[in-house]
This record gives sequence, C-alpha cells and structure tokens, in this order.
Amino acid sequence: MHKITGPFILLFILLCCHLPSSAVDKDGNFVIVIDPGHGGKDPGAISGKNTEKSINLNVALKTGQLIEKNCKKVKVIYTRKTDVFIELNRRGEIANKSGADLFVSIHTNSAKSSSARGAETYLLGVEENRTSANLSVAVEENKAILYESDYQTRYEGYDPKSPESQIIFEFMQNEYQKESLNFARMVQKQMVSHAHRSDRGVHQAGFLVLWKTAMPSVLVELGFISNSEDCRYMTSQKGVEELANSIYKAFDSYLNDYRKQTAKSINLQANSVTSDSSDNNTGEASTEIAQSPVFSVQFLLSKDKLKSGDSRIMNLTDVDYYIENGQYKYTCGKTTDYDEIIKIQAEVRKRYKDAFVIAFLNGNRINVNDALEITKKRSR
Ligand SMILES: [Zn+2]
Repeated sequence: MHKITGPFILLFILLCCHLPSSAVDKDGNFVIVIDPGHGGKDPGAISGKNTEKSINLNVALKTGQLIEKNCKKVKVIYTRKTDVFIELNRRGEIANKSGADLFVSIHTNSAKSSSARGAETYLLGVEENRTSANLSVAVEENKAILYESDYQTRYEGYDPKSPESQIIFEFMQNEYQKESLNFARMVQKQMVSHAHRSDRGVHQAGFLVLWKTAMPSVLVELGFISNSEDCRYMTSQKGVEELANSIYKAFDSYLNDYRKQTAKSINLQANSVTSDSSDNNTGEASTEIAQSPVFSVQFLLSKDKLKSGDSRIMNLTDVDYYIENGQYKYTCGKTTDYDEIIKIQAEVRKRYKDAFVIAFLNGNRINVNDALEITKKRSR
C-alpha cells in the first residue's frame, strides 16, 4: 500500500465502494458466477465473421448447464446470458452482491501471429518473471472499458492504452490467491487433458474484471481466434461442449475439495467445543477455540485508520476494524446472536445500504454459514 500514488488513490477509493451486500447464499448453496467476456457493442477479439463474445457466451452457457445438471446445492449466476454489453466493474459487482464463492471469466485470445494457439488460465497478480505476452493479454482484455462512456471517471487512473497503468496491480494482494491458483490449475489441467488444448499454462496478470471480485476468481482464455485451427474448434459444437466440460470438471473437483475442507473445519471446531468441558487444562488454545462465533456488521472500507470523532463512525455501537489487504474494514455491533445482528444490519443499512454481516471465530474471520453451523452445534 506504500506504492499508492496520485490518481490511483482515487481509483482505490472508488473500488472500495463496491461492497458485497451479503456474504453467503441464504439457502447454503455454493454460488458460482460465470462471466462470458464482452458482449453487445463490444465484440472482443474478431476473426472474419467469428467473434469472441459469441464463443465466450456459448461456452459459458454450456458450462452453467452442466453444473446445474450435475452438481447439487450449487447456484449458477451469469453476468450475462444474452448478447448484451456489461461494464467490467459491473461484472465483479454482480458476483459480490450475490455473495458468490467462485468467479470464472471466459475469454478468447488473439495474437498478431496466426501460429499462436492453445489455452491459458489466469489469476489476478503480478508474475515475478512476467512476460510482455502475459501483460498484453491483460491490457487487451482491459480495453473493454473503452466501450464504457464514463470509463475515465469509473476507472480513474487506469489507462488501458498504457502498459504502465498495470503498475496499479503491484500493490494488490488477492485475499484468495491460493484458492484462485488451485482452481486455475484445475481448469488448465482439464483444458489440456479433456479438451486437448495446447498448454500455455497458468499465469498471473492485472485483469480489471478480476480485481473487484471478493472471492476466488480466474480468467480462462479458451484459445486463439486468430489461429484457424483453434477458431474452428471453438466455433464447433464439439469444441464448445469439450471446453465447457473442461471448466465443469475443474469446478466439480474444486467444489469437492471445498466441501471436504469446510466439513473438516466444522468438525474440528465442533469436537473442540464438546471436549472443552472435560479437558480444561490443555492451555489457552483449547479454551480459545471453544469460543462462540461473533457476528458483526461490516459497513465501511478505508485505506487509513479513522479518527475516533470521525462522522462516518459516529452514533454506531461497538465500532471496530480489522485490516485486510492493507485496508481498514470497519464493523459495528458485536454479538453471538445471529437474529440480533440481522436487526443491527437493518439499522446500519439505513445509513450504509451495502452493509453486510460477517463472522469471526477466535478473532479470525470465517464464513457466516460456517459460523451458523458452529453456533447450531454448540447449542445442542
Ligand atoms: Zn476477452
């Protein structure tokens, strides 16, 4: 965060306004947001009569169908289902507002050289051995904002025509880097083994569309529209099906891992809760782990610590903050009673309409669903 300078501060503040309005799906579903890149007046990459926007949409819709058909307790949300234009920042907003657990953006590559071919998968970040090729993929994709009439204000400080603008991604650390990398590897693996795409690997670069997502997120480049073989494949029914199947299979592995890990951590918490009363002398750790999850309402992000008299936190109770990604995240209300926090949330939303409930266990932020699960087990 020390690198934030000049116009980037504005951009930073601008992006901080996009808070997720709810942290989890109320029915306990895993929520995946599928984002077909481009659309409407923005065709993306073009080759003859073939457009990236339609390849992306075909593969995205097929992927969603496969997931809906085969995965239980999963909700699929699309950023678009038809040929319409959606702003880049709106895509992340859709994911954040729906409390999504995973975000996948689907794109098609293009290169000056017609021999470039194959699939590659990206997560947000800066590679140590960054190549100009990876940077230019991100720069090309970020150019989508040029179709937005007010992009100068909306993405203040970011100029898609200047590669130097990529520096804004230097200070961004993705909170979900590990999960994003896992999923990116799974997607890439299936692209190669199932769809038999030439393997261009997993990379990191600064994609605006991933930047605003508050969950693990990847961007897949299915192939090159500028390569005749890739293009023929991506516009064929077989190609669309295999590419969609690859993303679906990767999702299925990711979901299984996710559910195993969630079950494990809930069991771990529940076990330590039940063993606590009979085993009081094992030290602080076991006492601490036996605490009840605490709910709060997050209502404000700030890059600086606010002064105690600041009007933004006046007249709110139990105001606190935690630091994440170099930002101060302000919360109010503190209770182990979920119904109570929902009431507080309603109050806070009169002032901060995007305020949402979060949960902590032993001072660490945890998923609200997991917190409810632990609360339920403790009350038995
Ligand atoms: Zn694209």
